[in-house]
Amino acid sequence: MIKCSGCGACSVICPKNCIAMKVNEDGFYRPKKNADECIDCNLCDEVCPQIHADGTNLDDITMYSAFAIEKRIRTESSSGGIAWLLAERAVELGYGICGVTYNYKEKRAEHKNFFELDGMRALKGSKYLQSICEPAFQDVLKELQFNCNRRFIIFGTPCQIAGINHVLIKKELRKRVALVDIFCHGTPSYLLWQKYWKWLDLDKGMKEGKKMILTFRDKTYSWHKYFMHITSTSKNEWGG
Ligand SMILES: Cc1cc2nc3c(=O)[nH]c(=O)nc-3n(C[C@H](O)[C@H](O)[C@H](O)COP(=O)(O)OP(=O)(O)OC[C@H]3O[C@@H](n4cnc5c(N)ncnc54)[C@H](O)[C@@H]3O)c2cc1C
Repeated sequence: MIKCSGCGACSVICPKNCIAMKVNEDGFYRPKKNADECIDCNLCDEVCPQIHADGTNLDDITMYSAFAIEKRIRTESSSGGIAWLLAERAVELGYGICGVTYNYKEKRAEHKNFFELDGMRALKGSKYLQSICEPAFQDVLKELQFNCNRRFIIFGTPCQIAGINHVLIKKELRKRVALVDIFCHGTPSYLLWQKYWKWLDLDKGMKEGKKMILTFRDKTYSWHKYFMHITSTSKNEWGG
């Protein structure tokens, strides 16, 4: 039996768009195929990282470790801030950036594409949830196919990156994309997240027109004794 991690690669590659990512009864995004539309091309299996692991041996790789020297960047990031530095440099080099933001309305993590620093701050910080990545990944593919000078850097969990790596190779677009996967021990269920949101009664503040700022790993007091920080304030205070 395939241990699907919900990386979304099958949904991204499907030429008939007949594989949708849906939250299952346990609260995790998993592919749902519309069998009537399926043409048995088998591309979904070909790009599945659970069926075809790429077999990289970590012993064969030279590894480096690094963190951002600027304290502000480290404080605003969940770990050492390297993701932000990579994204910032990539923008300077003209790359498109594909990373994860939090959608307050949908109450979920989502991949989104950026082409300039404006708004890109939303990528800072780990959102400890499974992000829905297919729409943004599909846009990346379209951009790469449409514009042969376009380059991208994509951030994601190891399973998402393994999946999109296979898709890019299959579509002969891999050379124009830098892939960055983050350390990930797994994502919690959306059922748990919804329960927590309800318990905190956060919808009340949203209904009152307040703007919410969520920091999944706040390091104001310490890097190691971290906690979650939720700020709810009037829209004007944040200019939103
Ligand atoms: C779901 C999840 C599980 C994690 N598990 C571990 C763990 O077990 N051990 C550990 O040491 N660290 C874990 N982390 C932290 C992660 O490894 C660090 O975020 C990473 O080291 C980068 O740190 P940073 O300070 O450079 O960037 P950060 O500011 O922490 O992260 C920002 C980058 O992460 C991406 N990102 C944010 N949320 C998500 C998401 N939900 N899915 C995919 N990409 C996302 C953004 O696009 C951005 O590029 C986890 C993070 C996530 C999102």
